Amino acid sequence: MIDWNIQSRSAACQACNRPFADRQPFHTLLFDQKSAYQRLDVCEPCWTAQFSQGASDRKGFVSHWQSEFAAPPPAPPEPIQKETAETLLRKLVALNDPNYAAAGYVLAVMLERKRVFKAKGQIQPDNRRHLIYEHARTGEVFTVPDPELRLSQLDAVQRDVARLLEHGLNPPLAAVPPPGAATDIGTKPTPAAPEDSGPSSPTTPAPDAPPSLQPPAG
Ligand SMILES: [Zn+2]
Repeated sequence: MIDWNIQSRSAACQACNRPFADRQPFHTLLFDQKSAYQRLDVCEPCWTAQFSQGASDRKGFVSHWQSEFAAPPPAPPEPIQKETAETLLRKLVALNDPNYAAAGYVLAVMLERKRVFKAKGQIQPDNRRHLIYEHARTGEVFTVPDPELRLSQLDAVQRDVARLLEHGLNPPLAAVPPPGAATDIGTKPTPAAPEDSGPSSPTTPAPDAPPSLQPPAG
């Protein structure tokens, strides 16, 4: 099954191995490899010679777009600060825990609204929608499964995201069960999540407040 995925932009054409120059146009292709999407970045001549016909005459890539290579930016000078939507999403992808699927999806939507992410379309390999985003600055490709949130889950998910942004990944969030999740009787009980210790502080909106996903009234 295909899940969370980040793939960096290549610094060279992956067909002819010539390094990309700054501002050089290149093509990104995604191949469905069943367990993951394989990204391939190729230069314009290789695209024309080897791949531009691929979609029609062989089972090739499932998604393709063109962009311009940008020389990697210098590392940001400031030290790691508070969790942002982006740092938090990267941690969630690394965890690859389905319990965080809803929170990760909301974070991806936030990053698209902030123009950190550019939407590159969607694919639906096994009746499950995946959104494809490209990081505007680094060129990384994120594939994000759509958790198919129900309206009744939105409040809880947005509270989880706000808490994660405020406090990071510890303590673990109370996961929103996926739709139709079966209760597994007979397996060993999961340890109860520890309650927040200390007096609970009033909820202050984080600078990275999650977007409202409620439909507009009226
Ligand atoms: Zn090439």
